[in-house]
Amino acid sequence: MLLQSAGHVFRVMLDPAMDIDTQVELEIRIGEEIETLEKEMVDGEEGTAPPESLDGTIGRLSRQDSLMQQELAKDAQRRRGLRLRLLKEARERMDGGTYGICLGCGEEIEDARLIETPEAPLCSRCAPA
Ligand SMILES: [Zn+2]
Repeated sequence: MLLQSAGHVFRVMLDPAMDIDTQVELEIRIGEEIETLEKEMVDGEEGTAPPESLDGTIGRLSRQDSLMQQELAKDAQRRRGLRLRLLKEARERMDGGTYGICLGCGEEIEDARLIETPEAPLCSRCAPA
């Protein structure tokens, strides 16, 4: 883990746009969140399977219940997938040295915004409210 991020830290130091400590911290957070989300995606996949009810072993109500559970699980998976994609894109921008640059206007994204949402691709002016 430490060895893996050593290269990143070096590149980060070449980018003066943001306080180095802050960016290193964000990079670690992004890495951890990607790892957590990937695990959750694997676990969450089980919940999205169709309810085993075709053989009639569970009642109609519990079938509806499990269908609803399934929808919730799918929705959670979708949101995880979306966040995971944004996090990975943010990590790629870190590698490419363009992290923290708004994809909309090319200005720097506010540090406070990145600390709150490290994967943010847009500054607060360009992000949809
Ligand atoms: Zn912008």
